[in-house]
Formats: sequence, structure tokens, C-alpha cells
Amino acid sequence: MTVNRARRFELKPNNVQQTHFAKCAGVARFAWNWALDERQRLYREKQDNERFTNAIEQHRHLNVLKKTEFPWMYEVSKCIPQEAIRNLDAAYALYSRARNAGRKARLPRFKKKGRSHDAFAFTTGAIRTEGTHIVLPRIGRIRVKEPAVLTGRILRATVTRVADRWFVSFAVEEEVVNRTSPAGCAVGVDLGVSHMATLSDGRVFENLRPSRSSYRKLRRLAKELHRRNRGSNNRKKSADKLAKAYWHIGNIRRDALHKATTQLAKNHGEIIIEDLNVQGMVRNRNLARAISDVGLGEFRRQLEYKCRWYGSRLVVAPRFYPSTKRCSSCGHVKDEMPLSERTYECESCGLVLDRDLNAALNLVAVSSTETLNACEDMASTAPARAPRAGSMKQEVNAAIPHGIDG
Ligand SMILES: [Zn+2]
Repeated sequence: MTVNRARRFELKPNNVQQTHFAKCAGVARFAWNWALDERQRLYREKQDNERFTNAIEQHRHLNVLKKTEFPWMYEVSKCIPQEAIRNLDAAYALYSRARNAGRKARLPRFKKKGRSHDAFAFTTGAIRTEGTHIVLPRIGRIRVKEPAVLTGRILRATVTRVADRWFVSFAVEEEVVNRTSPAGCAVGVDLGVSHMATLSDGRVFENLRPSRSSYRKLRRLAKELHRRNRGSNNRKKSADKLAKAYWHIGNIRRDALHKATTQLAKNHGEIIIEDLNVQGMVRNRNLARAISDVGLGEFRRQLEYKCRWYGSRLVVAPRFYPSTKRCSSCGHVKDEMPLSERTYECESCGLVLDRDLNAALNLVAVSSTETLNACEDMASTAPARAPRAGSMKQEVNAAIPHGIDG
């Protein structure tokens, strides 16, 4: 069985390479904006029954224009505009998927220099790792901060800039031995705001709440940025400082999440979580920051693909399963269980238990009831142990853009 994984390394480009990177990022941004503009125009002029455009058509069109209108594009690899247009296609697909599911969504927007992340990608040509260096098309050997060792076939290399640092992320197709499900027994996981995750065996993964502790720093840096004059060197420095602060916060969050999800997927044959309505919860202004801090949506996304890697099974309890209101001992269901009540006290059997632990115990109980079958029907959320290779590849692929192995 093969799985797709992302491997990320920090680059140490020299001055010439940095200049070339900036050029690549410029071409990627230009191609995205050009394609978006064309799409918007086509959409306005679209007659009924007329087909909309796609990445392949747009790339063909851009290739024709390139010769006469944009000859400077030849200075960088031909992959770069092509991948930028593909990304736009993916952004449109995400938009319509969200719209069709009845969620709020925003159409793709134009990229502004200095405002959005600089990023560009390669899919063909000389892409490989050579220990302390990596090789990219048209650029050649670039130093990496730590030795880059990859096993498997490289599908794509994406270079991104964070403040003044450059990173490369490889999407790699790796061969893994067909794993049998880990020996550990089923575990219920209650996700929450006060603790990131409470397990039915009593373990707790604490929530680090990075942006709460760094909130004041972010505010100070944001103010500093807005005091600087537009276009000045000091403004660029301030912008880099702010971007670094955000990045640092993200690292703390990502690290905590990856550690928790890896532990779970590696050590338990079956993991039962609740089907949280994360988007609905974020709309609640009192909870929004706390939930974004913990990354509840990301928790589930990581569990999904890691369970596939380690051969464990992820079961999602139905949205309205009363995991918090139900007594884990006698099954009594309370009418009300406000968020402020941190302890579950059962009126029926007298059980007194931590609120989150009670919920986790209820979730683990799901695995042995008929609810399980209902969950298994939701193919995308509860992957079967041996799905078809084709469909699985696609799902794992979809997880790649942010899926950095921790
Ligand atoms: Zn009870």
C-alpha cells in the first residue's frame, strides 16, 4: 500500500537563489491573478448552457500568450504558472463544495504582493534530495538546514516563504507495509476547549492556547506595523516580525496537535470521536478564539489520515449523540448540560464524574452499539480498514497541503 505524505525542510538559499525564488513567486502570483481575472470575465459573459473553463484550458491559453505577451515567464520553470492555475482550480472546487454543503464560503481572491504568502510549486523536472542539498528545476542545488532524506517518489515540491525564511515541502508517495490495526483497545476522545482532548482511559491532552498568551505581543506588533510608512523598509521589517510571531504560534499549536493525534492513531485500534460542528461553534463569538486556538477541525483531519497510515479505525459518533448529557454509568440523559458545569452529576444513579471524562466514556460505548453501523455508512469520515487503492489515494492527497508529519 502506498500513502502520500508531506515532508518539509527549511532552505538556506544564497542571494542569487533568493532572487530567483522571488521571481518564481512573482510568476505564480501573476498566473493566479491572470487566471482568476479571466475566470471572472468568462463568468460575467457566460451564456446559458455554456461550459465554464478549467485549469487545462487556461494553461493552454496562457502558453499561447506567453510567447508574445509575457516572455519573462520563460525565466522560471514552466511548472510554476501551471501549478498556480491548478491551485486556483482547487480553490474554486473548495468553494463550490462548501457552497453545496450549505456552508459559508468565499470566492478565490486576487493575490497582492507582500500580502499573501509567497509560494510556488514544481511537479516535473529535476526534483531530488542530496543530503545537505535539494535540487529544484532551473535553480539547481540549494542548501537545506537539516539533511533531507526521503524515501519514496516525489510528486510535488512546494516552496514557501515565511517572513524572511524559505521552506520546501515535498509531497512524497511512500510504500508502507500493510499494517494491522494497533493492538490497543478502543478509546473515546472528547474534544474540548478547556482540555484539548480527554480520553476514556482518563488521559488528558492539555490545550496550550498559544495565541492567548501571545495575544498581547501580536497586538503590539500589529500596531507597530500600522505606524510604519507604506513602502518603507521599516514597514517590511515590521511585517516580517508579525508574520514570524504568527508562525511561531502556529508551530506550538501544530506540534501539540500532531503529538496527540499520532499517539492516538498509533496506539489504539479504534478511536471514537464526536461529530463536532466546528464551523457552527466558531460562529459563537464567545468560543471562536478558544476553538481556533485548539484547532478542533484540524484534530479530526489529522486523525483521519493518521488512522489510515497506522491501520486504526476512526469512528465518528452521530452529530446528535448526547455524549455530554448522557450518564456513562446508567445511560440516563439529562435535559440540560450547560458549558459552565464542569462535573457531571447523575440524578438517576448518583454518578459524579468530570464532564469531559464522562463524555469520553460515552463515546467509547458507541463502539459496541448499533450506532457503529450507522457511522460506517459515512464512508468519508470512517474509512474502512482496506479501502480501494484509488479512492484512498485521492483522500490522502486531499490531506496533503497542510499535512506535515509531526
Ligand atoms: Zn447515572
